[in-house]
Amino acid sequence: MSAAGFDNREAVDVVVIGTGAGGAPLIAELAQAGRSVVALEAGPSFEPKRFTPDEPTASEIYWLHERLSGGETPQAFGGNNSGTGVGGSLLHYGAFMPRMDPRDFTLHSETGKGVDWPFGADELMPWIARVEAEIGVSGPTPYPWGVPRTYAYAPPTRNAPAQIMARGCETLGITCKDAPAAVITAERDQPEFGVRHACVNCGACHQGCRNDAKSGVHNTYLPVARAHGADIRPGCMATGIVLDGRGRVEAVIYVEGGVEKRQACRALVLAAGAVETARLLLHTGLANSSDQVGRNYMTHVSTQVWGTFDEETRPNHGYPSALITEDMMRPADADFVGGYLMQSLGMMPATWGSLVARARGLWGPGLTRYLRHYNHVAGLGINGECLPRPENRVTLSAERDAMGLPKPRIDHSYGPNEIAMHNHATRVMTRIWEAAGARDIWAADRAAHMIGTCRMGTDASTSVVDPHGRSHDIDNLWICDHSIFPSAAAANPALTIMALSLRTAQAIQQS
Ligand SMILES: Cc1cc2nc3c(=O)[nH]c(=O)nc-3n(C[C@H](O)[C@H](O)[C@H](O)COP(=O)(O)OP(=O)(O)OC[C@H]3O[C@@H](n4cnc5c(N)ncnc54)[C@H](O)[C@@H]3O)c2cc1C
Ligand code: SF4
Repeated sequence: MSAAGFDNREAVDVVVIGTGAGGAPLIAELAQAGRSVVALEAGPSFEPKRFTPDEPTASEIYWLHERLSGGETPQAFGGNNSGTGVGGSLLHYGAFMPRMDPRDFTLHSETGKGVDWPFGADELMPWIARVEAEIGVSGPTPYPWGVPRTYAYAPPTRNAPAQIMARGCETLGITCKDAPAAVITAERDQPEFGVRHACVNCGACHQGCRNDAKSGVHNTYLPVARAHGADIRPGCMATGIVLDGRGRVEAVIYVEGGVEKRQACRALVLAAGAVETARLLLHTGLANSSDQVGRNYMTHVSTQVWGTFDEETRPNHGYPSALITEDMMRPADADFVGGYLMQSLGMMPATWGSLVARARGLWGPGLTRYLRHYNHVAGLGINGECLPRPENRVTLSAERDAMGLPKPRIDHSYGPNEIAMHNHATRVMTRIWEAAGARDIWAADRAAHMIGTCRMGTDASTSVVDPHGRSHDIDNLWICDHSIFPSAAAANPALTIMALSLRTAQAIQQS
């Protein structure tokens, strides 16, 4: 029997693997509906009050299991791309919370490139609005782009990079606004959690928010889930899936404290993130009659431009991504399809230092000389559509990890669309920084987020799950995380993932 009460030998209604953006809303929803739910989470359960801005210490919230990175645009993993622990990557995400642009649901219809989602924006918007209300999101009202909306909290105070971006955009006639952010700016009392405090502009969002101003799932959906009897088990790494004689899931194998255990279940939801969900299906050989598991791995084009200013910027201060422009979602002079969002950027010193070393190729005395400018730098960054390509994929390497499982290999190469978008964004951001008075401007070519690998669709020969996240092959297996996105879209993904999670929970209840 586990601490929260379910016996491993008795089948629970649902086992969920992973407690991040994909897993948590669904866990809460099913528990509230009276289902018996066990959630297996590979990482530990953290006490947010112990989070520290100290970057090396904060690496405890990063997923640091080794991943092999290949392709022509190999992606950096670790802290750049995934987190771990009860709450998943939202423990250290940036909380930048734009809605998906309705046009991104139908990119293929619009341009002949990429793929359409199996449903449109109208289907998802009510779920999106519900997530915003349930977790607490700040932003400007009215919001100048997309569907009219109201944000419950006023935006956090603009830090120096945001003020500088506003200056540069105004000069060039580009509209910019305070960004939607999953950050509360007034105290919030939640029955199942207690008081969450208002943002104090400390700037340490990526190191974990100590006062719970940053909305994740550890301080929203998971307390609700626990209050309704969900059994959330940290330190439990799922390693296998057992099928019964009819080919349906009957149990999950996991390792806790070095001991292999088995949890029987009537349904299984995979929410381990786009790399680990695909890895689990690939090494168990399940749900892959389409040969689509692992394929169409996508990122976001996440180019950054930095510059040095006469004024003091102190880029570690304040909510890091305080300003947004959506003017580049379909720029008139685009030589690519899709679009990108832009944000202002502050950054912690060690993170910035390693970006400088990589992007500027600086090392030794040259690097330390440049790093002295830290208190006068500011950045801009984008999040742009990345088209699906079957050869960009997660596969299993011949190397094995400490548990004897094959390590994942991720091949990722930009195509012409991503390269054109990177070049366009570099030009636009450079112009904004020049207009704002920057000198010594440089660009960092980078890709962020882990998207795709188990895409949803109506055709079982070209997708892994149906439009509600249910496996085409195994009817009591569901997937509910970033892996099911058929296209990357430009918006930062957490809001859409959580909305899909609530929607899949409803489908499970109706199944
Ligand atoms: C540094 C950083 C900044 C980001 N900033 C933003 C932002 O500003 N806005 C935004 O919208 N998005 C942002 N993101 C992206 C966002 O956080 C992710 O897209 C989202 O959290 C992914 O949700 P998920 O459910 O797919 O995976 P995750 O949230 O990563 O959850 C997966 C969970 O599964 C666990 N797990 C994995 N394998 C197993 C296993 N075998 N057994 C048991 N448990 C397992 C992991 O430990 C993890 O807790 C950021 C991400 C990072 C890393
Ligand atoms: S800037 Fe605000 S949201 Fe971010 S860690 Fe600090 S208090 Fe939390």
